[in-house]
Amino acid sequence: ESGEIKIKDLDQIAKSSFPLCMRHLFEKLKEDHHLKHGGRMQLGLFLKGVGLKLEDALAFWRAEFSQKVGAERFEKEYAYSIRHNYGKEGKRTDYTPYSCQKIISSTPSVGDHHGCPFRHFSDENLRAALSRMGVGARAMEDVMDKVRNRHYQLACTLTFEAVHSSSCDAGINHPNQYFIDSQKSMQ
Ligand code: SF4
Repeated sequence: ESGEIKIKDLDQIAKSSFPLCMRHLFEKLKEDHHLKHGGRMQLGLFLKGVGLKLEDALAFWRAEFSQKVGAERFEKEYAYSIRHNYGKEGKRTDYTPYSCQKIISSTPSVGDHHGCPFRHFSDENLRAALSRMGVGARAMEDVMDKVRNRHYQLACTLTFEAVHSSSCDAGINHPNQYFIDSQKSMQ
């Protein structure tokens, strides 16, 4: 678990420290003011793991979704599942953020933005996304080589190393680990 994160810091830390899967969901949410269920779960639980408190999570999702569906529908249809993810509704289970393995093995449909970009993006979209993250030409080919061999977590590890100019010896096996290692590398 990392420290507490404030909504106002999210844009900046999404750019600097989110792995590609979460950065993509975050950007799509900001762009469309909406995410389908799989995306809300994947990003929502990640943000919880990053340290976004329940009240801030509600405010964050409300600010986006109300632009698309209105504040009333947000409260009726979406707020419950956010509280649910924080263990405040239903069985009161405290849900844990998804691991890479779970995300990689998910099966996003058309219009979904969850999943692992290293597995689920086309070559072209992946290259464009990596380039926006600041991955240079040389590292890009190493990453794409891992992708071709279906070593998605190794591709993510190489991406981490390229973006942070620091090594990640343990490898990436959880998006929240990526986040924590990223924050550490910048201290
Ligand atoms: Fe996200 Fe893991 Fe895929 Fe990296 S390897 S993009 S952290 S699911």
